[in-house]
Amino acid sequence: MTDPRTRYAWFNEAIVPIEQAHVSVMTHALHYGTSVFGGLRGYWNASDDELFVFRPLDHFKRFLQSAQLLRMALPHTPQSLTDVVTALLRAEGFRENCYIRPLAFKSSHTVGVKVHDLDSALTVFAMPFGSYIANEEGAHVAFSAWRRVEDNVIPARGKIGGAYVNSAMSSTDVRLAGYDEALVLNEDGHVSEMSSANFFIVRDGVAITPPVTSNVLEGIVRRSVIQLLRDELGVPVVEREVDRSEVYIADECFMCGTGVQVCAISKVEHRDIGAGGMGDVTRRLRDLFFEVVAGKVPRYRSWLVPVYSSAAKG
Ligand code: PMP
Repeated sequence: MTDPRTRYAWFNEAIVPIEQAHVSVMTHALHYGTSVFGGLRGYWNASDDELFVFRPLDHFKRFLQSAQLLRMALPHTPQSLTDVVTALLRAEGFRENCYIRPLAFKSSHTVGVKVHDLDSALTVFAMPFGSYIANEEGAHVAFSAWRRVEDNVIPARGKIGGAYVNSAMSSTDVRLAGYDEALVLNEDGHVSEMSSANFFIVRDGVAITPPVTSNVLEGIVRRSVIQLLRDELGVPVVEREVDRSEVYIADECFMCGTGVQVCAISKVEHRDIGAGGMGDVTRRLRDLFFEVVAGKVPRYRSWLVPVYSSAAKG
């Protein structure tokens, strides 16, 4: 069922009523997962009367790279896709936090397992959106029995539809077991990331996160958080492999991503992390993150694209 608050989609290079954004059951991507997608957030700032989209140019650079991995030629640039989003959000008229979903897919009506010689289509839609995880101030997570998709199986740094079967399996298994989210290991036993977010531990005042070669999605929030930790909070950040046992003895753990934002992890399986609440570094980072995304920190305004005041530029 369509969220009744979503009235429009960008589809066939135009804004159309959401009811007209439909595809055939013969669509290639439905059969083989040959799609790529993105996920962005818009943050409402009531005192500025403005909706800010967080780092759309970076999101769309990654989106177009994911498309490139699947040999999709989309007639767009990060800037033109950002313009699509601002036009779409103006049509929706949202005055609250929202989520934006761009999706490109192999649209040919044909069977055949391949990624070449196929047409591609693009759609974007948005919806009002609040928290993704209920316990953002102290999530309870568990290691999944499923391993993270390896880059030589499906490109892990691409946001590729088919690869999300892997994320969905990990997430569902731990959620049905009562946890908030899944931590996922690589085949070599090191930590990769959460099922749909990046992962950090804090040990002795140093923030540590698996490197981009650990089958992680190259998260836009991950990169933002690394900069905020280093430049604003004076917390050193190290990108290196993380062992499972380091997680259990970490002073703090948190996950980050567009959906989860900055989410403290207070418990991993049956073990408290640190004192079992939100750690000091996570709290400071989280507070700063929410100020930045709402446009309240001038130094980071360049990360944001305003929806309503950009209208004059056409
Ligand atoms: N890893 C995975 C598997 C994800 O789906 C996401 C959400 N896009 C992230 C990490 C976080 O990425 P970002 O900060 O760009 O949202």
